[in-house]
Amino acid sequence: MIRTFVGPMYSGKSDALISTYLRIWNKNLVMAFKPEADTRDGAMIKSKNYDTAIKAIAIKDIGEIKKHVIPNNIKTVFIDEAQLLEGDVKELVDLSVLFDIDFYIAGLNMTSEQKPFGIINDILAVSDEVSVINGFCQDCNKPSRYSYYYLDDKKGDVLVGDTGYVSLCPACLKRRLLEKDATLIKRYRGEA
Ligand SMILES: [Zn+2]
Repeated sequence: MIRTFVGPMYSGKSDALISTYLRIWNKNLVMAFKPEADTRDGAMIKSKNYDTAIKAIAIKDIGEIKKHVIPNNIKTVFIDEAQLLEGDVKELVDLSVLFDIDFYIAGLNMTSEQKPFGIINDILAVSDEVSVINGFCQDCNKPSRYSYYYLDDKKGDVLVGDTGYVSLCPACLKRRLLEKDATLIKRYRGEA
């Protein structure tokens, strides 16, 4: 079984993993993974809403998971920040089907330019269950759907850290996009 939680930044995706982890009785049969690209907290899945943190193994590629979980007879796997991983998601299906491993995966669905974020497309395609989690818009407190980067120095999607990012509702994203580029809607209409 593969269950995936996606949403914008600050939406509580790691909370969803930790609350699931806390409900598992035999934690000896659990392993957690995080991308090497996100070493902000070493390799821990944590959230400011929980005292519990899950110790994770840093990996680059989904293909590395099997060598950790199969010899240890692991039954539940947590993956955080999955959008930053590489590899073939068929490995997740194989581990789920052939070895009865349950996966709980969290990640950003979109970049701060509102494009699908890396491998997350593939992960969603093979998930048995998908939960889209809203955060709270940092401008108006309504449910947020989008991550947005408001500084001008970003190079590519994978800028790890929180500086410069906000989580926004559609109305506030529209306002901020038009503040940055007033001709945006006219250009879509072919008028500018
Ligand atoms: Zn808003």
